[in-house]
Amino acid sequence: MTFADLRQKLKSGEVSAKELVQEKISRINELDQTLNTFLTVNGHQALKIAEDIDNQRSSGNDLPSLAGIPLAIKDNLCTKGIKTTCASKILGNFVPPYESTVTKKLLNAGSIMIGKTNMDEFAMGSSTETSAFGPTLNPWNIRKVPGGSSGGSAASVAAELCYGSLGSDTGGSIRQPASFCGVVGMKPTYGRVSRWGLIAFASSLDQVGPFANNVSDVAEILQVISGKDEFDSTTVDRPVPNYLDILTKSIKGMKIGLIDNCFEHKGLSSDVKESVLSAASLLETLGVEIINISCPRFNDGIATYYVIAPSEASANLARYDGVKYGFRSEDEQTLIEMTSKSRALGFGSEVKRRILIGTYALSAGYVDAYYKKAQQVRTLIRKDFDDAFEKVDILLAPTSPTTAFGSGENIDNPMAMYLSDLLTIPANLAGLPAISLPCGFDKSGLPIGLQLIGNVFEEGKLLQVANQFERAAEVYKSRPKTDFTL
Ligand code: GLN
Repeated sequence: MTFADLRQKLKSGEVSAKELVQEKISRINELDQTLNTFLTVNGHQALKIAEDIDNQRSSGNDLPSLAGIPLAIKDNLCTKGIKTTCASKILGNFVPPYESTVTKKLLNAGSIMIGKTNMDEFAMGSSTETSAFGPTLNPWNIRKVPGGSSGGSAASVAAELCYGSLGSDTGGSIRQPASFCGVVGMKPTYGRVSRWGLIAFASSLDQVGPFANNVSDVAEILQVISGKDEFDSTTVDRPVPNYLDILTKSIKGMKIGLIDNCFEHKGLSSDVKESVLSAASLLETLGVEIINISCPRFNDGIATYYVIAPSEASANLARYDGVKYGFRSEDEQTLIEMTSKSRALGFGSEVKRRILIGTYALSAGYVDAYYKKAQQVRTLIRKDFDDAFEKVDILLAPTSPTTAFGSGENIDNPMAMYLSDLLTIPANLAGLPAISLPCGFDKSGLPIGLQLIGNVFEEGKLLQVANQFERAAEVYKSRPKTDFTL
C-alpha cells in the first residue's frame, strides 16, 4: 500500500488515523521485543495526534499530504520534549528543547511520529551493533544485521512497524541498510535537505533522507523535507520540483552509466553482481541506453572518507564535555578529570576510535599529510563524477558489495566493517544524490540493493528511473516473514 492508497482510505473513512497508529503500535508490541528497531515508542502522543487529525477530517477540513500516516524518526534527529539519544550513553537522558527542521516539516504535513529508531552510536557504523542500547536485528533473518547506521529506520519499515521513516547518510547509512532490509532509501544532494537539529557527525557529509517500502512514498517524504532553511546556511535556495509528477514520466532514451570498477571489486559477491547486472538489462528493455563508465578514483573513497569523517567528528563531538548537557561522571575532583571520565564512560569504543583518528589527522604535524591530502583526493573523486555526467544521465552500481552479514561477524574487525560502505561513500564525498532500491535476492533469500547516483539536484531523475524499475521488477511484492524463532 502506498501513501496515495492510504490517503484514499483515510479520506473515504475506510480507516481512521487512530486505527493506523493502533495497528502499528500493536505490531511494535508484538515484534520489537525481538527486533529492537525502536529506542522510544511515542504511542500515547501518537494516538492523541491521530484523534485530532480524525476530528479535523470529520469536520471537513482540508488536510495536508501526509495527514494521519505513522512515520518513524532516527534517534539522531532532535524532537522537542522527546528523548533523543543518538544511541549513546552520553546522550542517554537528553530531551531536546527544540524540534529539527525535517521533523517539524513532517509534523506540519500531518504525519504522526510513532517513535525514535535505533542506530549505530552517533551514526558511526554499518550494522546497528554499536548502539549503547543493544543491536537491531534484520527482519529477513534475525541472525543477520540490518545494516547501519540507520538500521532501526530501515528494519522498522521492512517489518511494517511504520509506513516510512527518516535516516541520515554520511557514508551510506541510508542506502546500505535499505539494501540489507529490502526497502527503498534515498540520500539527497548535499544542501537539498536541512540539517538543523540533526546531531552532527561529519557536517560536510551528513544528509537526512527518507526510507519507505516503495519509490513513490520516498518521493513524497523527500518532497516534504526538502528546501532552503534559514537555520542551515548550507541548504540551497532552489525550487523543489514536484517529484510525484516526475515519477511516471518515460525513461526512454536516458543514458545510464555502469560504473566498471564497482563491478570488478574482488569483495563483490557473485549474487549481488548478477542481480545488479540483470537490473541493468531490465532497464535496457525499458528503453534506456547502458554505457560503461570508469571512475578510477572511486576506489580511494574509503581511505579519503576515513580521514575526513573522523576529523569532522572529532571536532563535532568535543561539545560532549559533561558540562553543557548529557552524561556526567559525578565523583571527580577537577574539571579535567570530570570531562575525561565523562567522555571515557559516555562514549562507546567505535566513537572513541573515530575521535582518536580525527584528532591525529588534524594535529599540527599531520594535518597536511592526512587531512589536506584527503580533501584533495575528494576533489578528484568529484571530478570523476563530473566527467561521467558529461556522458550519462545517471550512474548505476550495487549499493553494497554483499547482502546482510551475520550478527557479530564484523564487529571486531573495523576494516571489514568499513569496507561495506565502499560503494556508497563516493556519493557523499561528492555531495551527490543517490538511491538504493531492492532488485532481487541472494541464494539464502536476503535482499539485494541497486544503487543509482545522480548529478547534483537530480533527485527527480533518480526517482523516475527507480520508480519505472520498481514497477517492472516487482521485487517489492516479497515481504519478510515475521514469525521469528530465535
Ligand atoms: N558506515 C559509515 C561510518 O561508519 C557511514 C555511516 C553513516 O553514513 N552515518 O562512518
